Order: sequence, then structure tokens, then C-alpha cells
Amino acid sequence: MNYLGIEPVRPRVALFSFTGCEGCQLQLANHEESLAEFLAAIRIVRFREISSSEQGEYDIALVEGAITRNDEVERLLAIRAQTKVLVALGSCACYGGVNRLKNSLDPAVMNREVYGDLSQESLPTRSVGEVVTVDLEIPGCPVSKPEVERIIQHLIWGIPYSFPAYPVCLECKQSFTLCRFQQGELCLGPLTRGGCRAICPAGGLGCWGCRGPAADPNYPEFFAIARQQGFSEREINERLTFFGGLEVTP
Ligand code: SF4
Ligand code: SF4
Ligand code: SF4
Repeated sequence: MNYLGIEPVRPRVALFSFTGCEGCQLQLANHEESLAEFLAAIRIVRFREISSSEQGEYDIALVEGAITRNDEVERLLAIRAQTKVLVALGSCACYGGVNRLKNSLDPAVMNREVYGDLSQESLPTRSVGEVVTVDLEIPGCPVSKPEVERIIQHLIWGIPYSFPAYPVCLECKQSFTLCRFQQGELCLGPLTRGGCRAICPAGGLGCWGCRGPAADPNYPEFFAIARQQGFSEREINERLTFFGGLEVTP
């Protein structure tokens, strides 16, 4: 598309996947109502979930998944060296995600549990930002496609993007969802960054904190309320460590 014969600036975007379920990539192929506009704004040069084609250089690398093997470290360093902008895509890339749970286990026991006698290389899980410099982190398990679209637009326009500072509770209240605490469930909404439209509480689940911390989360007050509601330290800490983005016992 062009106007008066002038080509718009369309950054070359490449997607890369490391340790994760590839659900964040899948999200980018979803949201059909805006897919045509999204693809018109950028040039996809590598996105193996939708095409086997790979075309040369790129301006923006969207990196999904945590880092758990030496070959992943080498691949990530090469991506960092080539790209202008490196974006960590999703909670695995931003925080290590659910993969990080294994870091609290004995590596030998964990390896045997998963691989049996066919032991595999498996380093302690690291986020992308613990291995290379990251320009932007987009949290979520999976990421929100509308949010990724907005962020890509900001990158094209050269305008910094601000994530919501408010917690999930705000959007939960706006949608008149009955609080999960009142139904005897644990919910990390008071600590977690909003922007997901509080879809888990709306769907009948407490929040698990996939979007990382809201601005200035009040951990002591959260612990006080959770304990008052009868949740044990273990239940609270297991929930807080699930995606790797929140703090554990204050
Ligand atoms: S953040 Fe969630 S959806 Fe994305 S790759 Fe990791 S596990 Fe999959
Ligand atoms: S359900 Fe969770 S997110 Fe919603 S108001 Fe209650 S604590 Fe906050
Ligand atoms: S409610 Fe919590 S766990 Fe669910 S999508 Fe939002 S931030 Fe993630």
C-alpha cells in the first residue's frame, strides 16, 4: 500500500522461539479482525508458525520463550548482534515463566522425572533479559495480541509505549466480576499489572500473575489479606512463583 507513490516505513520483523509452548507466536496469528492491518504495517521475514520462508535481515526480533540450553544462549547472542530492537515476547521470555519452576528442584531429580534414562541438557531457566540486553518486555501468558499491535505501532511511530500501571483488580471491578477472594480462592490481581481485561477472574479463575507486577505492588498487605483468608505460606508462595515475575515472601 502506498499514497502518492511513497512507500510507508514497514519494519522487518522476525519471530524466534526458545523454551516455551509457542502460544505467544500463535496469538500473533490470531485476532483475525485486525490481522490484515497488522501484516500491512510490518514485513514479516521469519515466522515459522505461519510460513517456512525465511528472508534475511530484520529490524525487530520478537523473542519468545525462556533460555535453558547452551545452544539457545548462542542463538540468542547471534539474534542480539543482528537486530536493532529485541523484544521479549511473553512471560517465559520476560521472567522465565513456568519453566522457572524447575530452578527450585534438584536438577538431577528433575531431569530423571522428565527424561527418564535419556538425560538431556537443561540449564537453570533464565529469562531473555538475563542473557542479553532487552529493549522491551511484553508480558503475558500468552501475550495480548491487541497490546502487541499497539506496541508495534508505537515502535513504527517512535513513541514510547507505557504499560498499564494499575493492577488487574481495576479492570476486574470495571467488568463487575465477583471477587474470587469472596469465593474462597486465591487471586494475584491486586499485585499484577492490568491490561488483560481481567480475563481469568471473569472466566472463573483467580489471577496467576502472568503479566508481572503492577506499579508499586503492596506485597505485605496482599500477604496479610491472603493469610487472613486462610491461605498457607506454601499456597501463597506457589502462586507467586508460578510465572517468575512476582516476588515471594516479603
Ligand atoms: S508465555 Fe505462555 S503462551 Fe507464551 S510461550 Fe510461554 S508458556 Fe507459551
Ligand atoms: S477477583 Fe482478583 S482481580 Fe478481581 S477484584 Fe478480586 S482480587 Fe482483584
Ligand atoms: S488475570 Fe492474571 S493470570 Fe489471567 S491473563 Fe490477566 S494477568 Fe494473566
